[in-house]
Amino acid sequence: MAQISSLSALDASKYDILIVGSGPAGCSLADRLSAKGVSCLIIETGLAEYNQDIQTAYTAMDTRGHFGDQHWAQHWIRAFGGTSMVWGGWCAPLDEQDFEAWPITLSDLRPYYDVAADILKLDRVINSYEAAYLPGFRFKPFRTVYGAMRFGEEYQSYLTQTGPVDVLLGVTVSDLQPNEGRDRVSGLSLHQSDGTRREITLREGQRLVLAAGGMGNAQLLLNPAPGTETGVGNETDQVGRYLMEHPHYINTAALVGRRRLMPPEPPANFGDYVPNILADRAMHAKTGKLSVAMELVEREINPVDRVERYLSDKYDGDFVTYNINIRSEMPASADNRVTLAPSRDPAGLPLLKTMCMAGSDTVRPIFDILEELGKTVLTRNEGRVFIHNDTLVSNPSGGGHTMGTTAMGDDARISVVNRDCRVHRYSNLYVAGSSVFTTGGSANPTLTIIALATRLADHLTGAA
Ligand SMILES: Cc1cc2nc3c(=O)[nH]c(=O)nc-3n(C[C@H](O)[C@H](O)[C@H](O)COP(=O)(O)OP(=O)(O)OC[C@H]3O[C@@H](n4cnc5c(N)ncnc54)[C@H](O)[C@@H]3O)c2cc1C
Repeated sequence: MAQISSLSALDASKYDILIVGSGPAGCSLADRLSAKGVSCLIIETGLAEYNQDIQTAYTAMDTRGHFGDQHWAQHWIRAFGGTSMVWGGWCAPLDEQDFEAWPITLSDLRPYYDVAADILKLDRVINSYEAAYLPGFRFKPFRTVYGAMRFGEEYQSYLTQTGPVDVLLGVTVSDLQPNEGRDRVSGLSLHQSDGTRREITLREGQRLVLAAGGMGNAQLLLNPAPGTETGVGNETDQVGRYLMEHPHYINTAALVGRRRLMPPEPPANFGDYVPNILADRAMHAKTGKLSVAMELVEREINPVDRVERYLSDKYDGDFVTYNINIRSEMPASADNRVTLAPSRDPAGLPLLKTMCMAGSDTVRPIFDILEELGKTVLTRNEGRVFIHNDTLVSNPSGGGHTMGTTAMGDDARISVVNRDCRVHRYSNLYVAGSSVFTTGGSANPTLTIIALATRLADHLTGAA
């Protein structure tokens, strides 16, 4: 068996782990589990090829707030390989301070960042390299990958070769049935695109992992099964809250000054990258504890800008000019959330409604850090920072990073999964993906998604 042809041919009881979703989270989890001989079934709404009708029918959304009407829907691709079909491949680990509100630390995840780099076929140096920059700041490049890994192509063998991983395509999980005591999931409803439905009973010892994307994981936990009033795992009304993106403010400031402001070069094995500067630990605490990545994009001097001309003359050739693109963290707010809409997708799952605003608590720390950078270069007589106010207070764009909707925490009253990514109360239900991020940092999320998924695999096999 490899790809299972239809629901009627499925014998779900023979798998140790059932995984919902075949994106980077689902495939990396299956990769690590299958390497340890654990049998897995991946259940995926999409087909091997992208299909626009499926995409539209399953991701229609009622969007409120920042980031645009189609933003979340366009960043949740329903096909084998999930959203990796379109992702850009930028990778960086989160920083130690990004984990301050998490129940785990960077040390817990560090070995798995290396596993994630291996899965993505990137040099492990991307997880450790950074360099000192100006006082208060450090240089941290983000790896960029042209021709980023498409997990649907990379894991084609799951469809074609007999092995410990089988795949059911064109099938959507629509309900999770809790047992009477609401401490385990007892069954699932599956819906095939031709309209066939089947109820699956989870046997003792079998575990279910939701890897359905930042929206999909919340959708499944928000949806009450027939005969119940509350979705599995949503007993404390936390599912869908803390929705986060990485607000992008492109060309929002300029750094002009002496040539020594040029960022250092990472080692050659690092590969292609964007140069970012970020606050160091002390500056991070001073400017509001949000992570703000400032990408430096070198450009020509603006000949009509009198200050730039003055500085260029003053530094007499020893001069560089950068535009600054901001990619920032936003605070985890309970009011930024995903809820269920009245209309349903073809599988009968309620579609989603989103509310997400990047407010002054996102933007003010960005002003603060840019002003600190400006003060630093000015007092050292190295140059100037110019802030383009209007760009910074305009609607941000986003990276397609859907985070926080089933947040990790020790306290079940304010989180959905525990430090092992297990849904509080439920002994056999786990979540993989950026929905478990407690906070978002400013690094692109997929490297961390893969690190967490492979850590979860080790937990499920008793190795972590
Ligand atoms: C244009 C774009 C550029 C991006 N660039 C980057 C980047 O440079 N760096 C980076 O780190 N990240 C980037 N991202 C984000 C990245 O794609 C995601 O972080 C990543 O794909 C998430 O992986 P995942 O497996 O958690 O979810 P997904 O990849 O979204 O996969 C979820 C899968 O679950 C399936 N599914 C959902 N619900 C169900 C259900 N009920 N039943 C069955 N199946 C279901 C879906 O069909 C889908 O295939 C980008 C995203 C976009 C859109």
